[in-house]
Amino acid sequence: MRLLLIAPKWPEGSLWGQIYFRFPYLALTTLAALTSDDWDISIIDENVDSLDFSDLPDLAAISIMTPLAKRGYEIADAYREKGVPVVLGGIHPTMMKDESKTHADAVAMGEAEEVWPQVLSDFRRSDLKSFYKAPDFCRLEQLPMPKRDLLNRHAYFFVNTIQTTRGCPFDCEFCSVTSLYGRTYRVRPVEDVINEMGQMERGSVFFVDDNIVGKPSYAKELFRALIPLNVKWFSQASLSIVKDRELLDLAQRSGCRGLFIGFESLSQESLNAMGKSLTRVDDYKEAIKMIHDYGIGIQGSFIFGTDQDDQSIFPDVLRFIEKTHLEAVLFSVLTPFPGTRTREALLRENRIIDTDWEKYDMNHVVFRPKKMTPRQLQDGFNWAYKRLYGYRSIVKRLFPFRRSGLFYSIQNYGFRQAWKKTLGIL
Ligand code: SF4
Repeated sequence: MRLLLIAPKWPEGSLWGQIYFRFPYLALTTLAALTSDDWDISIIDENVDSLDFSDLPDLAAISIMTPLAKRGYEIADAYREKGVPVVLGGIHPTMMKDESKTHADAVAMGEAEEVWPQVLSDFRRSDLKSFYKAPDFCRLEQLPMPKRDLLNRHAYFFVNTIQTTRGCPFDCEFCSVTSLYGRTYRVRPVEDVINEMGQMERGSVFFVDDNIVGKPSYAKELFRALIPLNVKWFSQASLSIVKDRELLDLAQRSGCRGLFIGFESLSQESLNAMGKSLTRVDDYKEAIKMIHDYGIGIQGSFIFGTDQDDQSIFPDVLRFIEKTHLEAVLFSVLTPFPGTRTREALLRENRIIDTDWEKYDMNHVVFRPKKMTPRQLQDGFNWAYKRLYGYRSIVKRLFPFRRSGLFYSIQNYGFRQAWKKTLGIL
C-alpha cells in the first residue's frame, strides 16, 4: 500500500514560501513515523517538490495550515477525482472541520498520535469515518522518531527541527496554540529529546516549541543535559525567561544563540486586550538588555492592527527596535485565525472583509481596523518592513556584531531578499 503525505505550497508571492523561511514539516515526518512498516511512504513538500498526479497512491494525507487551505483543498479535490481517498489534518481542518470535510473522505482533528493509527486501520478495512477526533492530549513519552530520511534534504538550509514541549501556559486572544492544545503544557522526557538529537545531523538545532521556557524546572533540566552536547540552538520563548537568572544562564551555557520572542505591542493597553497583561511594556528594554548581556540574540515579533493602534505605531515600533538592537524582527498584521478569540470578536463586530484563506498569512489585512483604514494598515506594515530590512537599519541593529553577528547578518540579508521578492518593497 502506498501512502503519500503532502504539505501544500504557499501562495504565489508569499514570504513564507521563500527559501529563507523554509523548514521541513515535522508534522509529516511524524505521521510517517506513526505509520506501520508495511506502508510504502513518500513525503511531498510542494514548496520544494512537484506533485505528480499521474502517479497515484492508495491514500493521500494533507497537512493544512490556514493560508495553505485553498491549495490543500485543490490537491484533495484533484486526488479524489482520480479515485484516491484523502485525509485532511492539521490546525485548519481541526478548527474548520465541516469546511474541510467537503474536500476530504476523512478529517483528522487534534494531535496525530491519537488518531492516525485508527485512520489507517479503518482505511484498510474500507471503513474510513468522516471525522476522527483525538479523545485527549497525547502523552509525550517515547514518541516515535520522526522519519527525516524521507525528506528531500537538499531543498532545505536546515533540517534539525525538534520538539521538546507542546502547548503554552498563556492564552493570547490572537493565538490558536491554546485552542489546539488546551491549557496544557506537556513536556517530553529529556532523555528522549537527547536520544532524538543523537540521530539528527550535526550542526545547529531549532526547537520548534511554542514556548521552550513554559515550565522553568523542565527547561533547566533540558538545558543542563544539552551542555555536554556542545550544540548551538534556537527556539521560541516568552519574556518570562528574564525572571529567572539561573534559567537564562543555563540557556546561554547550553548553546542558546537566539530566541524568538513575541513582544507584540508597545502599548500596555493592547497587550492587556490581547490577554498578555502579565507582560509589561515598561520592562521590555531592561529585559532585552539582560538577554543580550548573556550573548543571546533576539528575533522579536510585533503585531500591527490592534484596536489601540493608529498610524503612529509604525515609526514608534521601528525606533524601539533600532534603539534596543533587536537582531531580527517579524512583523505581522493581526490575523483572525479560526479557533481564536480575535476571530470571534471580529466576526461578531462584522469587521472581517476578506475570507480568502490565502490572505491569512499575517502579511495581508483581512479585517477593518479601528483607528486606521485597511489600506493605511497595509501601507504602514509594508513601510515598516522596508525600513527594517534596509541596510541602514540592519547595520544600526546589528552593530557592533557581538551576538552571533555572522548568523544574524545572513539572516537579515535573507529576510531582505525574501521581502524584496514578495512585496517588491525594498
Ligand atoms: S505566549 Fe505565544 S504561544 Fe503562548 S498563547 Fe501567547 S502567542 Fe500563543
